[in-house]
Amino acid sequence: MRVGIGYDIHRLVEGRPLYLGGVEIPYPKGLLGHSDGDVVLHAISDALLGAAGLPDIGELFPDTDPAYSNMDSRKILMQTVDLVHRAGFRILSLDAVIICEMPKLLPYKAQIKEKIRSLIDYPCHVNLKGKTNEGLGELGQGEAIACLAVAILGDME
Ligand code: MG
Repeated sequence: MRVGIGYDIHRLVEGRPLYLGGVEIPYPKGLLGHSDGDVVLHAISDALLGAAGLPDIGELFPDTDPAYSNMDSRKILMQTVDLVHRAGFRILSLDAVIICEMPKLLPYKAQIKEKIRSLIDYPCHVNLKGKTNEGLGELGQGEAIACLAVAILGDME
């Protein structure tokens, strides 16, 4: 069994759609990034790559490469899952904490979990938690959203 951890943070800015876990969330601001800035899919992908002993998403999908400009992060997760499978592992469990003052994520949690499961397209445990930063710092002031994720992999049967 292998364990991996992933972390990501992106700045919230006006005039971008907000994607979390591959789901578009209605909000006047979105996450700034070379890709669509989906911190949840980035943290989960890095957790999976870490557990498999593979390079991180910064190496695999460099933000200096125009090919990944405005990239749909669902593709990053799907390509990551493929790499993990080809490395001989199956995904047993994923857990993530989204640190987000606004918008409130409770109404979207079930939809985000379902979206992540559908992108992985392989039976595994997916859990998700929303936390505020208690008003503290940039996250607490609603200037950014961060995500921490843990993945557990087992050997492919
Ligand atoms: Mg990122």
